[in-house]
Amino acid sequence: MASNRARVVVIGSGVGGAGCAALLAERGFDVTVLERNSFAGGKAASFEKEGFTYDTGVHAVGSGDKGPLGEINRRVGGDLTWALIEWNRICLGDRVAHYSLDYGSDDSIHHILEDIGVLPENHDDCYVCFRELATVKPPAEMAVLDETPLKDYVDRFTDDPMFHQMINATCGMLIVVTYFTGSAGEFIYCFAGMAENRSLSYPRGGMGAIADSYIAALERMGGRIEYGRRVEDILIEGGKVVGVEAGGTFPADAVVSNAGLQPTVKMARDHLSAEYVDGAMKYRSSYGAVSVKYALDAPVVPYPMTLWLPDLADEEALSKYVGIMYPVPSIPDPDLAPPGCQLVLAGAVLSPDPKKVDLDRQVLDRIEATMEHLHPGIEDHVIWKLRTDVAYTAGISGRDLGEVVGLSQDFRQVGRNRPDPRMPIEGLFIVGADAGGRGIGTEMAGESAINVSEMVSHFLTL
Ligand SMILES: Cc1cc2nc3c(=O)[nH]c(=O)nc-3n(C[C@H](O)[C@H](O)[C@H](O)COP(=O)(O)OP(=O)(O)OC[C@H]3O[C@@H](n4cnc5c(N)ncnc54)[C@H](O)[C@@H]3O)c2cc1C
Repeated sequence: MASNRARVVVIGSGVGGAGCAALLAERGFDVTVLERNSFAGGKAASFEKEGFTYDTGVHAVGSGDKGPLGEINRRVGGDLTWALIEWNRICLGDRVAHYSLDYGSDDSIHHILEDIGVLPENHDDCYVCFRELATVKPPAEMAVLDETPLKDYVDRFTDDPMFHQMINATCGMLIVVTYFTGSAGEFIYCFAGMAENRSLSYPRGGMGAIADSYIAALERMGGRIEYGRRVEDILIEGGKVVGVEAGGTFPADAVVSNAGLQPTVKMARDHLSAEYVDGAMKYRSSYGAVSVKYALDAPVVPYPMTLWLPDLADEEALSKYVGIMYPVPSIPDPDLAPPGCQLVLAGAVLSPDPKKVDLDRQVLDRIEATMEHLHPGIEDHVIWKLRTDVAYTAGISGRDLGEVVGLSQDFRQVGRNRPDPRMPIEGLFIVGADAGGRGIGTEMAGESAINVSEMVSHFLTL
């Protein structure tokens, strides 16, 4: 039966696309998602192998149910549930600091500073800096912090080398750029948000459960998804979007693209000004990552999540090992591995260029050497291991680059300098980690989904 509801086509079912599609269906629009893969979730999908459920990436979610991903789930009546990651560790060589969910409390900050080895004479300055980093800021202050490199911000308080190393490492983990270019505002938004929400989490069933839950909600509300549908062209007439071409024509009153800013610009290039195209193509991406997934026959790693970096003064360690983040998803969610077994995901960041395959191979070898160094004998417990490179990430997100997050959250391209999700063509929007939100990877995509669904709804009901 023909519908007189406004039609929305969403290109892609990453967290941003799936969330936005479900929110628009909840508002009563006729929503179709076209996804080039045979699965939903993009960079945050999960697969099963021999009783283990592993993720495409190496993830934890900063604010879980209390953040935008939980908010979308509630709004669309989704079935997503969360397991808390009660604590995590940052290790700089032999120095180990434990972060509880309550890491913004006075007691916790003092312990972290002592454990990480800040010099006693710097303790008070580092305390003040940590407290500032862990405190949510008002919008006027954020506008200035957005355009301040995080290192410059930390320099105002202290030159303590271990404190700087810890903040730089944390910046790499949260927004996947170094603190030399990472935005202080964006870092504080993530770090202070996590401290306030005390809700570092992992979705039960694996990262893929996020998009799967939104897509299931979309379908319950009468929307639909077609897998294996790669959108090749965005159809525009008289400056207004009218549909997309994806092995057939899909008419639409609005198109929301989760394919990324630059790929979307390429699909609509002929209808955009040279100035807009130039500006869009100049945005830089976050770093890429490679990962090793370990399916183990025993619980080898006792920590839910670790960020480990070699001691910068130890030349031998620097020549053999690499900084890694390694969550153990089967600790918060034991159903991800068979009884008595363990799933460990270990990742390291590097260039997002998928053509640097030799570099990827070397870093993957180093991840394995680092894991064996930190957990001697881990190799003896391997049932299977899977190595993923940067090309793998590029492949699953359908992009030329294999960046971890999306457009980099560096101090030149966040806040008011982030791309506007409303493209300069009537009815064309972008959603996901590239535009419309802020925060850590998937949560930035989720915040974007909420904001963009409101923009699209406003546009269609004018
Ligand atoms: C190794 C790794 C570790 C990470 N760690 C974390 C973490 O700890 N915490 C965190 O929050 N985030 C993390 N992230 C980042 C997070 O996964 C991403 O930022 C987020 O998932 C991006 O979501 P998105 O909606 O922007 O789009 P994407 O995930 O990029 O999805 C885009 C979707 O669009 C589809 N698509 C693209 N082009 C087309 C087309 N032409 N036609 C049809 N479909 C198309 C793709 O197939 C894909 O499904 C990590 C990522 C990686 C790779």
